[in-house]
Amino acid sequence: MISISKNRCVGCGICISNCPSDALSIEEGIAVVNQGKCTTCGICVKNCPQDAIMDIRETVVFAIGTDDGKHIKSDDHVGAAKYYMIWKYADGQMSFVEKRRNVRYDEDETRVHGDPGKAKSVASVLSGVDVIVGRIFGPNIVRIRNKFVSAVVREPVIENAAKIIEDNINEIIEEENKKERRGLVLV
Ligand code: SF4
Ligand code: SF4
Repeated sequence: MISISKNRCVGCGICISNCPSDALSIEEGIAVVNQGKCTTCGICVKNCPQDAIMDIRETVVFAIGTDDGKHIKSDDHVGAAKYYMIWKYADGQMSFVEKRRNVRYDEDETRVHGDPGKAKSVASVLSGVDVIVGRIFGPNIVRIRNKFVSAVVREPVIENAAKIIEDNINEIIEEENKKERRGLVLV
C-alpha cells in the first residue's frame, strides 16, 4: 500500500515519470496514487527526492482519549480520559474498532499527576495500541512516550481527527520507527 505525504510532496512529478504502471498523477499540486493500478513495486518510494512516499504494509492501532466518545478530551490530559476510542489504519484508511473504558478512571480518587501506577494502568488498557492520541499530555508523557507514539491532534471531533491521522500516516509511522520518540503535533 503506497502512501504519499501531503506535507512533503512538492508535486515535482519525478515519481510519475518513473512509475511503470501509470499509477500516479498530480492533483492540486500533489501526487496521488491509483491503488488499483499500483503493483507496490517500490520504484517511486526509492526515487522521491522529498521522501514523501512510503510503502505501508503494517496495521497501526490508535487510542483516542475521550469522555463522551465524540470529542477528544480537552479539559485534562489524555491519561485521565474516561474512554479510549480504538481506531486502526489498514489498507490506506482509518476505521473504528472499539470503545475501551479506562478502568482506572473510577478507582483513582487521588488523581496524582505523574503517578507511575497510573501510567502503568493506562498502558494495560491500551494493550495492542501503537499510537495514543490526545489534546493534552500530562507528566506521564515521558513514560507513555516509551511505549507509544504520542500524537497531539488539535481537531476536537474524533471523526475529523481520524481523517487528519490518515493524512499524516507516513509521519506517524516514521515516528514509530525512531528510537528516540518525541511525539507529533498534527493540525
Ligand atoms: S517524486 Fe515525491 S515530491 Fe515529487 S511528485 Fe512524486 S511524491 Fe511528490
Ligand atoms: S510502487 Fe511502483 S507501481 Fe506503485 S506507484 Fe510506485 S512506482 Fe508506481
